[in-house]
Amino acid sequence: MVVSLDLQASSSDGPTRRVLSQLSLSVAKSRRIVVVTGAGISCSSGIPDFRSSDGLYNLVKQRYPDVVLKGRDLFDASLFRDPTSTSLFYTFISQLKQSIDSASPSPTHHFIKTLDSKKKLLRSYTQNIDGLEERAGLVGSSSQEVKSTGKGKAKIRTKDVRNVQLHGDIHRVWCSYCSVDLPCSEEYLGRFNDGIPPDCPECTSRADARLARSARPLRIGTLRPAVVLYDEAHPLGDDIGAIQATDVSRKPDMLIIMGTSLKVHGLRRLVKDFARAVHASAPVIDPSSTKSQGKSLKGQVVYVNKGAPGSEWNGIIDYHIEGETDAWAEKVLEDWKKARPADWEIQQTLVAAGEDDRGAFTVAKDISGKATSKFIAPSTPTNTNGLCRWQETFCTWDGEYAAADRRCRAPFLPSCEAALLPHEASQIDITLRRWGVQPFEEARPW
Ligand SMILES: [Zn+2]
Repeated sequence: MVVSLDLQASSSDGPTRRVLSQLSLSVAKSRRIVVVTGAGISCSSGIPDFRSSDGLYNLVKQRYPDVVLKGRDLFDASLFRDPTSTSLFYTFISQLKQSIDSASPSPTHHFIKTLDSKKKLLRSYTQNIDGLEERAGLVGSSSQEVKSTGKGKAKIRTKDVRNVQLHGDIHRVWCSYCSVDLPCSEEYLGRFNDGIPPDCPECTSRADARLARSARPLRIGTLRPAVVLYDEAHPLGDDIGAIQATDVSRKPDMLIIMGTSLKVHGLRRLVKDFARAVHASAPVIDPSSTKSQGKSLKGQVVYVNKGAPGSEWNGIIDYHIEGETDAWAEKVLEDWKKARPADWEIQQTLVAAGEDDRGAFTVAKDISGKATSKFIAPSTPTNTNGLCRWQETFCTWDGEYAAADRRCRAPFLPSCEAALLPHEASQIDITLRRWGVQPFEEARPW
């Protein structure tokens, strides 16, 4: 059975409020959350719900009175069979991109980014093509930043992907012939708006080069919006499949599904796979035990959406939170801040201890008064391309170890090697942020 919780009723209904607080705490305690989202999380950003025949579509349709396309047809690959419906698609995407460009990430997008900053997010998966996750700071699978430059088979560096864009990205274009993937420039947008796809610059320069040496010119492809239509394969499908498989094997401990009606086949399978993995990672609770399992609920699958899930989701979704995703995200953050304030302290100042012969740093001044992290000794400085460089290891609040490469600006001198203690004795002020160390080259006086 899916337990249904009405977000709006939570202020007046004690039991609902209690379970919602427990779920907030689960978010705060989880370490490998998978988030799956759909159009519902972008509604408050002002992105029109383009899958239904709304104003934007009707506006475009006035320019193409003879085309009969609506709802799903507008995103079905079969539209390419007809030149007029293809033109309508380009114009529509151009209009849609323009309205997306003036939108801002919603509180839900920022919430997902917060999960990532707090090291809670295993990965976010979205059906949305609006790229608002990227604007909130989550690097997407279509991003230029993750393009693989190596010789391997993978087209993207999967470890850098924080948000998997299951249906592509409206801010990019693909060549229908050579598959080159480029940002959607103003120029391309203008052409799309007129219903005419631009020529691919890669194909064009290849053809020009051949013409210059009197070879037979090659075909020139046209650019299209980098969004995946129904009945189309995702060009990054193999990479995305590999990311999913990795994430399932990494034992996610919570699944949060937000703002999707779970109608798309591929997404349903993805949700089911993750739900199974989350339930498998949940600790077995002995119902006869009198011991409380704690205030949080572990290994849960939470569905936040206005509409309820169908009965086929019994045993897969544990909780349906009925309401706006923004309102739920804000409630979780509020509960989390109340229950675990230490998670929200931002910084502390460390100074070198000096007297420790291992050169360990200790927390000398704690701005928050609550943090308990300790600083492990930096490694011995080494000569790296003539510069002094060493590595530091520090422990964050949660006991996770992280390493940071540091380099002092000064050239590496023979004294550097033996200078660990002098380095530290020089009263180094280091600001350690919650999840990393600020560059402090400036603070090093040598
Ligand atoms: Zn091309």
